[in-house]
Amino acid sequence: MPKPLIGISANEKSISNDIPIVHLSSSRNFADGVRKAGGLPVYLPVSSEVEAEDYINAIDALILTGGQDIDPRFYGQTPLSNETAYFPDRDRFELALLSNALKMNKPVLAVCRGMQLVNVLLGGDLYQDIPNHSQGLPLGTYHHIEVKESSQIATLFQTGSSVNSVHHQAIRKLGRGLIATAHDPRDGIIEAIELVGYPLLGVQWHPEFLIEESPNNQALFDYLVKKV
Ligand code: MN
Repeated sequence: MPKPLIGISANEKSISNDIPIVHLSSSRNFADGVRKAGGLPVYLPVSSEVEAEDYINAIDALILTGGQDIDPRFYGQTPLSNETAYFPDRDRFELALLSNALKMNKPVLAVCRGMQLVNVLLGGDLYQDIPNHSQGLPLGTYHHIEVKESSQIATLFQTGSSVNSVHHQAIRKLGRGLIATAHDPRDGIIEAIELVGYPLLGVQWHPEFLIEESPNNQALFDYLVKKV
C-alpha cells in the first residue's frame, strides 16, 4: 500500500533584500508530523488556481500552514495598516486548494493562518489585530484552551490543555457550516474550528512546533492521515 500523500502549502521568502532569488519556505516540522503519522509529505509551491485543482487531484489530504496576514479584501474589509505585507497570490492559491479539497472530499488540517483561510473561504471574517494575545517567539506554550464537549478536537485535547500563541489576528464572524470548538478562556478568542460533517480541523495554534513534547499535537497529524 502506498503511503497517503499529504500536501503542505508552502510560503515564499526572499533570500535577502538585495538578491532577487526567492526560496520556498515552510517549517520542516510539518513533514516530521506527517511522516510520524505514516504519511508521505510534499510541499506545494504557490501556483495558479488551475494547478490548485491538479494538486488536490494528486494528494490525499491537505495541510494549510501559517504565515502572513490574509489580504482583508478577501473578506470584505479594508486593510487597517498599509504597512502590512500581504501575499494575495498565496491567498488565491490556497483558497483554490481548499475549495477543491472540499469538492473532492479530501481531509484538511488548517493551522493558524490556514484556519483563518478556511473561515474566509466559507464567508466568515477576521479581527485584523487583537491585543495581548501573542507570546512572541514560538517556544513552549502560552495559554490554555477550553474545549467544546463532543467535538472532534475534544477527542484529542482536554479543557485546560496548554497551547502556543503566535497570532495577532483571529476569527470574528464564523463562516457557513463552521463551529468553534475551542476558545481561550481569558479573552474568548476562537482557538479551534470544525466543519460540521467533514474531516477538517482548524487550530489557531502551531501544533507542528509541539509534536516532540506533546502527543496531543502529533495526534492532529495522525487524525489527518487516518481520515484519508
Ligand atoms: Mn491563541
